[in-house]
Amino acid sequence: SAKSAGRNGYRFFDAAMTVAADERLRLEADLRRALTNGEFVLHYQPKIGAASRRLLGFEALIRWQQRDGSLVAPARFIPLAEETGLIGAIGEWALNTACQTLQRWRGEGLCNLSMSVNLSARQLRNPALPAQVQGALARSGIPPERLEMEITESVAMEDPARTVEILRELKAIGISLSIDDFGTGYSSLAYLKLLPIDCLKLDRTFVIDIETDPNDAAICAATIRLAHTLGLSVVAEGVETVEQARYLDGLDCDVMQGYYFSRPLPEDAARAFIIHGVRGGEPAI
Ligand code: C2E
Ligand code: MG
Ligand code: MG
Ligand code: MG
Repeated sequence: SAKSAGRNGYRFFDAAMTVAADERLRLEADLRRALTNGEFVLHYQPKIGAASRRLLGFEALIRWQQRDGSLVAPARFIPLAEETGLIGAIGEWALNTACQTLQRWRGEGLCNLSMSVNLSARQLRNPALPAQVQGALARSGIPPERLEMEITESVAMEDPARTVEILRELKAIGISLSIDDFGTGYSSLAYLKLLPIDCLKLDRTFVIDIETDPNDAAICAATIRLAHTLGLSVVAEGVETVEQARYLDGLDCDVMQGYYFSRPLPEDAARAFIIHGVRGGEPAI
């Protein structure tokens, strides 16, 4: 449809649609140019302590800024970036930028916060990843324990034995590791136990109806118990209402993220969020 056509008349890549070869080439060239022209931006979504209602840190989420100022969501370009290998350069840019932003805030006295960065399948399998992480830490000066990387459950379970190896290497650097979108993939509990991770991020699909769907509530409760038994913390994704927040708090969930607390914010708005405080909580400083 005309509505789904982009600024130059192409449609953005979408896993559910077949994109004509020439359109793909055009989008690939545009992605490449976007990187050199600095058209990507990171937005930062707060992570809130469930019991303390304190700001613990942020997750960096990429957007592609168009000339008219509009933003293209990652779901519309990350899959093609992944397919073409451009994700390598884009992901490294995101990692370095997220670390630099956190260090800038630290320089302004906004300390004790963490930064999470998402990793795609191809990035995880790139043998240069540990060196890239060390480089980003060294260049920015942020302590490794302030950096967290998120990999989705489905990516982690594609080749579990290999994932264990890679994650051990990352863990040795001293960073934290999370399994993203937990509950939507097919985790083998045997492998989950072997993964050197710190945290499970409970997928938003279980949180949406947590108060009304007993199955979802049971999945959330069981996941939180399992995680705690394994020594892992739990972040609930997609918390949109005060009722969901209270329910998750009652299940002993550790951390919450979602529109109820804040949407992902541009850097300046994120800085203001740090200074002015959390809904129902105290400022971080
Ligand atoms: P994710 O890592 O699971 O991130 C959570 C997504 O849920 C984000 O979408 C966020 O804006 C959205 N979200 C947060 N709270 C709520 C809520 O309360 N309700 C609803 N409906 N949505 C909420 P976003 O920013 O569009 O990112 C989508 C996905 O794109 C991410 O899912 C992540 O897998 C990927 N992604 C984003 N940035 C990067 C990046 O720098 N590198 C890579 N490799 N992937 C990225
Ligand atoms: Mg994530
Ligand atoms: Mg997620
Ligand atoms: Mg998710």
